[in-house]
Amino acid sequence: MTDPAHWRDLGPGIYLHIPFCRRRCGYCDFASTTGDAAARNAFVADLLAEIRLVAAGGDFADETFRTIFLGGGTPSLLEGDQMNRILGALRDSFAVTPDAEVTMEANPESLEPERLDAFLRGGGNRVSLGIQSLDDAALRLLDRAHDAALARHRAGELKERRVSFSVDLIYGLPGLDTTAWGTALDGAIELGADHLSAYLLTLEPGTPMHVAVATGELTLPGEEEARAQYELLVDRTSAAGLSCYEISNFARPGLESRHNQNYWVRGEYLGLGPSAHSHHGGWRWANEPDPGAWSRAVQAGGGASWGMPREAGGSYREMSEAADCPILFRERVSGREAAAEWIFLGLRRTEGVPWDLLATAAGDGAAALERRTGFLAEQGLLERQDGWLRLARAGRFVSDAIFADLMAAMEDPVPVDGTRR
Ligand code: SF4
Repeated sequence: MTDPAHWRDLGPGIYLHIPFCRRRCGYCDFASTTGDAAARNAFVADLLAEIRLVAAGGDFADETFRTIFLGGGTPSLLEGDQMNRILGALRDSFAVTPDAEVTMEANPESLEPERLDAFLRGGGNRVSLGIQSLDDAALRLLDRAHDAALARHRAGELKERRVSFSVDLIYGLPGLDTTAWGTALDGAIELGADHLSAYLLTLEPGTPMHVAVATGELTLPGEEEARAQYELLVDRTSAAGLSCYEISNFARPGLESRHNQNYWVRGEYLGLGPSAHSHHGGWRWANEPDPGAWSRAVQAGGGASWGMPREAGGSYREMSEAADCPILFRERVSGREAAAEWIFLGLRRTEGVPWDLLATAAGDGAAALERRTGFLAEQGLLERQDGWLRLARAGRFVSDAIFADLMAAMEDPVPVDGTRR
């Protein structure tokens, strides 16, 4: 069973992690740091070195990349000439299609017109604007460095330039009832973006907002209220012509993120920069997350993906075969792991996953998986149609529980009536 043909032009992609933010938001646990101009200059020099080292290693010599994604952190904190040196180095070092989707994550406070225009001159053609909310009280609560007026202004500048852009939103915020969420959502839709992503606030232990919730200083909406906010999101985006193509992502037809879809269909990609992940040749690996350790590894001659030096020009494959290689994170994905990925990545997409692809990967867990998907379909949470398995709309808000259930079913078959042993 091979991947459907229409998935093949989504990737491969290149992800670059830019680990700088103007200030840390109270809910965020991403790998980012505040850094001054000197730190950003040094980082760009290291990133250019990593690009050249990976290209020299030859592992990606046969690939033609279709997407580039500058993520973070806040890539729009880079100066225009820094963005262009990075994009230029990628095109000089790797084969990239002329019509590649080139996206930059940007925040309103740093997406000044000069930076945006430099990004566009360098071949950028898509911006993901992190507005998060159009409610100033919510933005203050989130410690964001912009207000709603600036978010609207930046969206207007993107529209003036006819740049395809996405806006990011957060729902399930403390103190945000469903009516207030509807108002913020309508305002975001009126910005005229081609694409909208909206995520339920989830708080990782250790973040300031997690502490505030744990101590009772802030209260999150209950599950029913959060679900109501998600359902409102699906209804209002759909009415505005933005189709739900993934649980949390909505787009006008043909303007879905190719780069992100490639992740969800388990396509191949190269990640560069601290904490970036890669998937290629049946392997997944991750770069050293600490920017300092990543930088030292690059300066020592490469091997940032394993947090250790390697000879310049050596390939990842050769490196991985070294018996004493202290790999930070590397795994070959096959069999049950692949089936698990089809579940927690592939089923995120509204289109779903071809059943044969999932069943083949599940191997001797396929029969149990089939029984369990049948049970969840009877509950109205999954759909099996024309050889595809997908989430039903009622399953989207509880997708994490469904994915965990299906993965458990592969490993530990349950009776067909759904009761666990
Ligand atoms: S700007 Fe984004 S990456 Fe940076 S701290 Fe805030 S949420 Fe995290």
